[in-house]
Amino acid sequence: MTDRLSEGDGCTLKCSLCENPAVAVVRYAKLRLCGKHFAEFIRRRVVKTIERYKLVQRGWRVLVAVSGGKDSSVVLQILSDASKHLGFEVEAVHIDLGIGEYSRRAREVAERLCDALGVPLVVLELNDLVGAPLPELVTRSRRPACSVCGLVKRHLINSAALELKADVVALGHHMDDLLPYVVKNFILQNLGDIGKLGPKTESDEGLVGRIRPLYEVSEREVALYAYTQGLPAVEGSCPYTVKGCSIEEEVRQFLNSIEERNPGIKIAFARAIARNAGFYRSRLAGQVSRCRHCGTPTSGEVCAFCRLTERSLGRPMGPAVRARIREVVEGGLRGLRGS
Ligand code: SF4
Ligand code: ZN
Repeated sequence: MTDRLSEGDGCTLKCSLCENPAVAVVRYAKLRLCGKHFAEFIRRRVVKTIERYKLVQRGWRVLVAVSGGKDSSVVLQILSDASKHLGFEVEAVHIDLGIGEYSRRAREVAERLCDALGVPLVVLELNDLVGAPLPELVTRSRRPACSVCGLVKRHLINSAALELKADVVALGHHMDDLLPYVVKNFILQNLGDIGKLGPKTESDEGLVGRIRPLYEVSEREVALYAYTQGLPAVEGSCPYTVKGCSIEEEVRQFLNSIEERNPGIKIAFARAIARNAGFYRSRLAGQVSRCRHCGTPTSGEVCAFCRLTERSLGRPMGPAVRARIREVVEGGLRGLRGS
């Protein structure tokens, strides 16, 4: 558990490593840290996570999915920094979902951050790729907005990674995003799905592997790191944000209350899941085949994206989307990769 100190606390407590006022108490590491040492602590933890789970190899091209939110901004900034001494390349992709003002602000944050870090960025507009922004797709499909959004983003990010010849996609998921889903899937005995919630998933034909460099970082730590670094993040929340208490939110609170009395238990839990990821993956039922339209790995004949677009827009759009992304990529990335 990491607690953020308020101004009043900060006046009396000093950093364990220097004379500056502490901004955080990292209880599982028995440390009080100032802004500078806290940021170093988090950066070291992410680099150790990359090494511990062998997330990236020297010479790889890592594509970071930046949403404009603080989690992916933190991943991008730390990976961009680490890439210099670990010897890999970083590029970024942002999906403009066309959710009015919210998407406009999110895109602006992603562009500003990539410009500041000197990271090449490709922006993909959902409306340009399929002829409809997210709100229209949601209305036509009659499915919950976040389920359509998640499906579309997964497909577009993977298609972008294939076209950019990325070795891996980096996501901004942290420990508090993942562990509640692990518990929920355990309760429902969807053991195979737990295997997808570890620090990485491997690449397969038509599917670029995904890594989660914030696997051992908590939500509070991500927020405090973003604050100490002055990283931009989109203000306000997406109009489709679901209010109310979901199972995941209840589990998140439960895990935090256990962590309160047992500092370090969440990291131990995350590491145990990572150790057993192979076992959980082996519980995934069924054969994987390829979508007959676009070649994406799927459990049926047609992938979820082609099914959604066929039902909502009249034709499976996996192949057209790949072709359009190729054109966008060939047109050059923002902050360009030598073109
Ligand atoms: Fe997408 Fe839902 Fe997040 Fe909005 S709240 S960005 S619709 S997943
Ligand atoms: Zn498909």
